Amino acid sequence: MGKMPHLAHELAVTGGARFKLANIDPAGTHGVEKDGSEERLEKNCKRLSVLQYQLYAESQRALLVVLQGIDAGGKDGTISHVMTGMNPQGVTVTPFKVPEGAETRHDYLWRVHNAVPEYGKIGIFNRSHYEDVLVVRVHNLVPQAVWSKRYQQINDFERMLSENRVHVVKFLLYIGKEEQAKRFRARLDDKTKSWKFSEADVKERGYWDQYIEAYNDALRKCSTPQAPWYVIPANKKWFRNLAVSEILIHTLEGMKMKFPKAPADLSHIQFE
Ligand code: AMP
Ligand code: MG
Repeated sequence: MGKMPHLAHELAVTGGARFKLANIDPAGTHGVEKDGSEERLEKNCKRLSVLQYQLYAESQRALLVVLQGIDAGGKDGTISHVMTGMNPQGVTVTPFKVPEGAETRHDYLWRVHNAVPEYGKIGIFNRSHYEDVLVVRVHNLVPQAVWSKRYQQINDFERMLSENRVHVVKFLLYIGKEEQAKRFRARLDDKTKSWKFSEADVKERGYWDQYIEAYNDALRKCSTPQAPWYVIPANKKWFRNLAVSEILIHTLEGMKMKFPKAPADLSHIQFE
């Protein structure tokens, strides 16, 4: 099994306007072999739980993890496989669906800001404010004059978060169109998975190219040093899990958490 010291660099979206999903192989594994990957993931999950404990103990910063992906891209699977081992007290998971109720009576970032993790916690977004430049753009749910301003608004919002000690890291789980068909078929054939399938998914599949174009734009315009995008080749689930775990470790280690000092000098305390 190859080492993966540079995955965070290899998978980060850089290059601005030149970036193109078409240049990325969704089945790629960046020289990493499957052999030994399970053990590696297990080790990574243990490391993540230690880092999460430090973040929680320190309670000075938060980590916001944005997960995006086309239907069947593996968002749920990533959450259950990579976040396993973390203390539930320190993690929040927020799924973003079609806005309803009070959400429709506010600006699009209102519900998002409200779900940002508190200091000491890791917040996972299963979909996010990026839907407001993805599904909303593909289906013309608001005019172009409205959605086209959102890239800058999102960058401003994420910069504000990072300036207020909320670190932001964003993953696109990128599967190929064939792989999506395979997963849809598996969902239909398996009673334990068919509940996840909706006919809307088939309809959305018809907009594949428009989604890729919308993703390209979001990735080009909104991958910033303070809130980087990573594109994870996600056809192979073992690689997807490994890559996300490695990048989360890289991100949390970069935060250099410190345990707070004990509240007072405790050396004189004696126990009977
Ligand atoms: P799922 O993640 O499969 O439960 O589906 C949630 C659905 O909600 C997806 O089809 C998303 O595209 C949709 N959705 C999420 N956010 C928005 C939004 N801001 N506007 C419209 N649709 C959204
Ligand atoms: Mg779905």
